[in-house]
Amino acid sequence: MKFFIVCFVFVFISTSTIIKPQTVLVTPKLNGSDKFYSNWQIFTSNNFIFHFPPNTVVKDKKKFADIHEQAYAKINLFINSSVPRKIDYFVWNYSEGAEKFGLDELSFALPEQCIIHAHVKETVGHEITHVLTHFISSNKKVKTKLINEGIATYFDLNNNAVYGGTEFKKPEEKISLKEAWHNDFKYSDFVYYFMGAELIKILNQKFGKQKLLKLLANQTYENAIILYGNELTKILSEIESKVQ
Ligand SMILES: [Zn+2]
Repeated sequence: MKFFIVCFVFVFISTSTIIKPQTVLVTPKLNGSDKFYSNWQIFTSNNFIFHFPPNTVVKDKKKFADIHEQAYAKINLFINSSVPRKIDYFVWNYSEGAEKFGLDELSFALPEQCIIHAHVKETVGHEITHVLTHFISSNKKVKTKLINEGIATYFDLNNNAVYGGTEFKKPEEKISLKEAWHNDFKYSDFVYYFMGAELIKILNQKFGKQKLLKLLANQTYENAIILYGNELTKILSEIESKVQ
């Protein structure tokens, strides 16, 4: 009897396995080191190692590389960063192409590892800026979402920037940039990306590059007050009133 039950259970498990095959998806390593990428094509340029999937929609890889090299040069003319090695830039066809394999929504950078995963329509400068600003020489590196996303959006170098999704919807409530500065999760991304970019633009125009580089190294509100004094409060309320 026991044997019969064991057999029955075995048959049941086998049958259910056959009826419902489980596809186990393993998220590919983000640094491109595993088999998943074995049929990807590599194109190397001065500052990048580009990785393209076999069905890439990018027809002219050299042109793609040139555009990104030009962006890197242009942004770094301002940022003066020294990135320790070439950036591994993974060029997915669509965001869903990557999400299907368990990656986060594209595009994103892992600056400390010099890695970018982006879809082909990503703005040319946004993720590159994240990597470049990470390697600004400074003893103290403190990041805040408002300044980090603000500078990357300011330097995206694309008039048709692709910032989609409901997370970019303008918030209904009254916005305090000081609160956004202290809390990365208080508002929608609209505030951190677009109002952050506006803040960076004004600070750069009014006070210049050297102070802005100090702010990029230590991105806190407290450091900004030291750098810009009372003028900062006025600038913040100007930006806030423009979007209300
Ligand atoms: Zn970003």
